[in-house]
Amino acid sequence: MAGLLSTIIFSLTSLQSRLGLAQNRCVHCLRPFSPASGTNSPAHFLAGTIARPSAHCAADALLCPACSALLAPYTGPRCPRCGLPPTNPHEGSTVCGACLQNPPPWSSVAFHGLYQDSLRHTLLRLKFDGHLYLAPLLGGFMLDSVGCLPWPDLITAVPQHPGHLRHRGYNQAHELAKVLHRNLDVPLATQLLTRPVPGKEQARLGAKARRSNVQHSFSASPAASGLRVWLVDDVMTTGSTMAAATRALLAAGVTRVDAVFAARTPRNTPN
Ligand SMILES: [Zn+2]
Ligand SMILES: [Zn+2]
Repeated sequence: MAGLLSTIIFSLTSLQSRLGLAQNRCVHCLRPFSPASGTNSPAHFLAGTIARPSAHCAADALLCPACSALLAPYTGPRCPRCGLPPTNPHEGSTVCGACLQNPPPWSSVAFHGLYQDSLRHTLLRLKFDGHLYLAPLLGGFMLDSVGCLPWPDLITAVPQHPGHLRHRGYNQAHELAKVLHRNLDVPLATQLLTRPVPGKEQARLGAKARRSNVQHSFSASPAASGLRVWLVDDVMTTGSTMAAATRALLAAGVTRVDAVFAARTPRNTPN
């Protein structure tokens, strides 16, 4: 019976494709478009069953060709510790001067693009407008960026203070971490990090105030002692939130933290 049903579905899908009726709706511009044949459907991303974890798959299934080009990954030079294009690379090293002088507590970073233009707009829609249907797209982008990192034992997201979580109703970093967890089959630790101290909204603060705002905000359980963790967030701006969360994990016995986020704020760009 199941075999007959899948044969019927396959025949109908082939017919639809031949007639040019197979259409997805672009999650960025919301216009219908015809995906390339053999492309995963949006349902595959939501179910976490994409055939090959790749941003190209995500873009093919969820974005029209024009939006796919607008949201293409950043491929320029980047410091492996902070992700920014090095302005004064040390001779023989791709690590930027700032990271050589003051190394961040995480081991390395992976991200999709710079926090500007269409990617910034898409992340703002996810974070402030409740457009959770964008999480599979952005998480799919992140899937393609993590190939440079060592495999983790656990994935966890930068948590929100419970009061902020109640107000917004969801944590966008956790929504992105869920996409990585579902598609890579790596456990997602939802209670590993907590944020018992409420801070001000980071976007309104300068770099120095951001550091002191989050310095003692996080608490980590020793459950991940001896393990390697990917710490997921939506955007890295100055890195002070990621640094405070990473220090809490390391203090709780985590052996290595790698930072994974969708977008990196370029130097000297207001958030
Ligand atoms: Zn589009
Ligand atoms: Zn750097």
